[in-house]
Amino acid sequence: MNAEIPYKTYLTEAELPTAWYNVRADMKKKPAPMLDPRTLKPCSQQDLERVFCRECVRQELDETSQFIPIPGAVRDFYKMYRPSPLVRAYFLERALGTPAKIYYKFEGNNTSGSHKLNSAIAQAYYAKEQGLTDVTTETGAGQWGTALSMGSAFFGLKCHVYMVKCSYEQKPFRRDVMRTYGADVTPSPSMTTEIGKRINEEHPGTTGSLGCAISEAVERAITLPNARYLLGSVLNQVCLHQSVIGLETQAAFRKLGVKPDVLIGCAGGGSNLMGLIAPFMGEKLRGENDYRFIAVEPASCPSLTRGKYAYDFCDTGRVCPLQKMYTLGSDFIPSPSHAGGLRYHGMSATLSELYDQGLVEARAVEQTSVFEAAVQFARTEGTLPAPESSHAIRVAIDEALRCKAEGRSETIVFGLTGTGYFDMVAYGRYIDGEMGDTIPTDEDIAAGLAHLPEVKL
Ligand SMILES: *Cc1c(COP(=O)(O)O)cnc(C)c1O
Repeated sequence: MNAEIPYKTYLTEAELPTAWYNVRADMKKKPAPMLDPRTLKPCSQQDLERVFCRECVRQELDETSQFIPIPGAVRDFYKMYRPSPLVRAYFLERALGTPAKIYYKFEGNNTSGSHKLNSAIAQAYYAKEQGLTDVTTETGAGQWGTALSMGSAFFGLKCHVYMVKCSYEQKPFRRDVMRTYGADVTPSPSMTTEIGKRINEEHPGTTGSLGCAISEAVERAITLPNARYLLGSVLNQVCLHQSVIGLETQAAFRKLGVKPDVLIGCAGGGSNLMGLIAPFMGEKLRGENDYRFIAVEPASCPSLTRGKYAYDFCDTGRVCPLQKMYTLGSDFIPSPSHAGGLRYHGMSATLSELYDQGLVEARAVEQTSVFEAAVQFARTEGTLPAPESSHAIRVAIDEALRCKAEGRSETIVFGLTGTGYFDMVAYGRYIDGEMGDTIPTDEDIAAGLAHLPEVKL
């Protein structure tokens, strides 16, 4: 190892950021406004407050404050598992024989097993502050449901989770982790909501999708007396909370005197990637520094690389506000891939706008090549990565091999968003050679895009 750069760089507790960074404040062309699903007109604070917590809505609509203070109670909770380490992947570099320098920001060091806790604790705090008693949500792979169960337990809220059916069946232990933190967990689509019943009728035997589960959770929030719905990705407020990842990464690199060249993250709804890159994107938008940013998505659910930039519904039941985003259509139900956290038809509006402006690149990668990278990473760097995170590992390795071919020693950093302990069925299938790749045909993509809403602003 190079003695000058440590294997792990930690910030001190005192260096933990005191405010989140809001990249929209530095964007000249802002993301398009959210629309009300009934009127197709821009949503007001009041419209959104029917579904979401008041303070979260304020943050959602705030395009001008560059920094938003992290409440003391949230920052104190962060101290239980943050600052997270920035790791120099010396062992992976050696295995690849690359002159590139690879770093990763590790967010898997908490019980939720992912970065999702960064926003869950903030949203639970704002729900409590508002005097709510219950919160509802959906979960795909289970990390967000676990994170919100933890946040809800901490602030004494009752948490109702709708879990995408294929994950519920693949990962029974996830359900019990959430129940340990006091949450109710229902497989989605269920027969407990009107929307769930309708989806079950229209798609008998469906393994569910995030879009369905969101609709069910929103319906439940509206029918319970003192509840709101909390969402773990896609929204601006979530990207805002996740900026703690990027701010720590920026501070750690400054401490090391290193400037990264390429920043890479997996993109499901876009929150970890936006969180990691936000402060660096801010430097780029203000003309202070240049970086390459790469969003990595599964070839089975390719919103950025094969979707359309258009207004669409965020959920199958069409009860949530519409967003202008890269989308595959709210009816698109991806094949049951093993990266549950990346099976969403749309993408963060902010990330979509930055991608549309050419400031972010996107790549779609196949499942088997993702698991090949995951296994190589586990065997060299020790940590067992989540399948979602492994999408970023795949492209980080590809970039490092490009550097090797070109004889360049670029500095690459990727987000290692979580650990894969609950994904052993998938790892087992990969090791047994039973894993395949399911890529939607052009007809599948066209069918998903055929029913995009017509919006005239
Ligand atoms: C949810 C999840 C993701 C994807 O969500 P984003 O909002 O795109 O960040 C990635 N990795 C892990 C481990 C997750 O749990």
